[in-house]
Amino acid sequence: TAAEGDLNHPFFARQVRIVRETSGKIDPEKIEEYIAAGGYQSLYKVIHDFTPQQVIEEISNSGLRGRGGAGYPTGLKWATVAKMPPGQKFVVCNGDEGDPGAFMDRSVLESDPHRVLEGMAIAAYAIGANEGYIYVRAEYPLAIERLETAIKQAKRYGVLGSQIFESNFDFKVNIRIGAGAFVCGEETALIASIEGGRGNPRPRPPYPAQSGIWGNPTLINNVETFANIAVIIREGAEWYAGIGTEKSKGTKIFALTGKVQNNGLIEVPMGITLREIVEEMGGGIPGGKVKAVQTGGPSGGCIPASLLDTSVDYESLAKVGSMMGSGGMVVMDQDTSMVEVARFYMEFCRGETCGKCIPCRAGTVQMYQALNKILHGEATEIDLVKLEELCEMVKFTSLCGLGQSAPNPVLSTLRYFRDEYLALLKPGVLNGKVAVHG
Ligand code: SF4
Repeated sequence: TAAEGDLNHPFFARQVRIVRETSGKIDPEKIEEYIAAGGYQSLYKVIHDFTPQQVIEEISNSGLRGRGGAGYPTGLKWATVAKMPPGQKFVVCNGDEGDPGAFMDRSVLESDPHRVLEGMAIAAYAIGANEGYIYVRAEYPLAIERLETAIKQAKRYGVLGSQIFESNFDFKVNIRIGAGAFVCGEETALIASIEGGRGNPRPRPPYPAQSGIWGNPTLINNVETFANIAVIIREGAEWYAGIGTEKSKGTKIFALTGKVQNNGLIEVPMGITLREIVEEMGGGIPGGKVKAVQTGGPSGGCIPASLLDTSVDYESLAKVGSMMGSGGMVVMDQDTSMVEVARFYMEFCRGETCGKCIPCRAGTVQMYQALNKILHGEATEIDLVKLEELCEMVKFTSLCGLGQSAPNPVLSTLRYFRDEYLALLKPGVLNGKVAVHG
């Protein structure tokens, strides 16, 4: 890429590395290097200087929100589990990263596994848990290997296991390997999978915070969320809250990809604009023009070039019909067919639906068929109306996030690139009138 080797290039210079502060700088297979870089000091600090309540207050004051996509306030989630009556509780790290093209969590786990373990241990201390699980997909064998090594080393150093830092706090971490089902990233499906069952979502409430693994209160955060924790404790909530926008604090890692000149992982402060990412950091499209940017993977939407000045934060991305998601960011040029983009994501959802509820099981197949019909030039405007109705129905009646968000790529492309759909239609009849397009 044009940025390669030039650390002054905006691709590197505009990054703010919090989660990835030591990625690539330390050997992930040596705990000594993590410790030498200040690792496990935050865990020591909370065990000796903080009450569990104070840890939760610190995380709440930092403004950290879940990096898995939905953006739920992390401190609030921790407080909910902490308030449950004392007894068996679990901490779960969701490393079931499944969006096409996304590899943020993989990179964190492979390059700095102790950072995630330290975040989990701090969370366990805060909520009163002594056991945790990291759920990693089987497609990430190096991440799994490095986590296994990291857990062994951490136990040997007394920073995981029994009587951590010679206190009476115990925390044991187990690894669970997922078999590659996208739906297992949904928290209730993930719990079912950890319990040894089929990875099917269930209705909420009860939320995992109330009733999770084997009916016990369970805190679930994703890899990137946990990787923020030690830094927040080390630098303080106020420092962290000084980065980002009013409601979205800190940084976010994106897998910048597509037609853009500079591809790769970037960690950027919340509030940066899409234009700054795509044109300055990404170097734009060589010899071409941006048509759209897709964020949020199969759950997100396509944002047109006219909205490139949108701020990258939870609220602003939702306002333009997309979402932060876990960090996929695909840049598309003028030659990209937006109807084909919608079909690509629908094909993905059709293949990944767990089949438990009818709107999603049948709806994703029907939406995929409708998109194919349009692309083959066999659809009329009536089909387009039906597709829109189907999208709304699937969105509002599906059981879990997969089905509820599956129509988003279709709805966002219909919102901003309707002309492309209309150009593919053949003449038909709508409301008794002949509609002629295409
Ligand atoms: Fe399964 Fe889809 Fe229903 Fe979710 S919405 S439970 S993935 S069928």
